[in-house]
Amino acid sequence: MNRNQVLPQVQISPEPSALKRVDFCAPQSYQGVGFLTIAQMPRLAEEASTVHPGDGFDWQMRTHFEDAPASDSHQILDLAINGRIHLICQRCLQDCAIDLDEKRRFILVSTEAEADDYPMDDEMQEPLVASQHFNLLETIEDEILLSLPLIPKHPDGFCEPHASVFGLDGAEEGADERENPFKVLKNMKKNS
Ligand SMILES: [Zn+2]
Repeated sequence: MNRNQVLPQVQISPEPSALKRVDFCAPQSYQGVGFLTIAQMPRLAEEASTVHPGDGFDWQMRTHFEDAPASDSHQILDLAINGRIHLICQRCLQDCAIDLDEKRRFILVSTEAEADDYPMDDEMQEPLVASQHFNLLETIEDEILLSLPLIPKHPDGFCEPHASVFGLDGAEEGADERENPFKVLKNMKKNS
């Protein structure tokens, strides 16, 4: 049985309010594209060091039903995320653009128990519990957060050691760093 041939395909509205309530229990498949600003994803906004014009994430989603052997048809969600956020570079402590280009596949299951039973070692797809008011915005934000580097850094050779001289926020920090060797010397003299 191929339900895709009979099921209507619904276009998802890119409005954040609509993305928070997607009915994944309805007998229909979905597709949609949109763009989310950093401000529209509060947990991501907390991580951002600064927000430049154009920062944010394009997303694209599509669902289809897949026939699994000896069981009901499962709904598959494909999600692609592509965009930019600024984080603090852990090497030079300046803003650093982080570009993401991620693709994820999920399988929609009916219950938490079913999700818990899902094999952990399946790297192809992760389970999500379907509901009539599924928060797809939260899922998109989760995937962006999970894709951020643990230690954000400029590519090698692209740090900005002197940027703080011209900046306002970083000026004091930069000055302190340059003074450090002398402070250390002074302290050594005091202590000797
Ligand atoms: Zn850097």
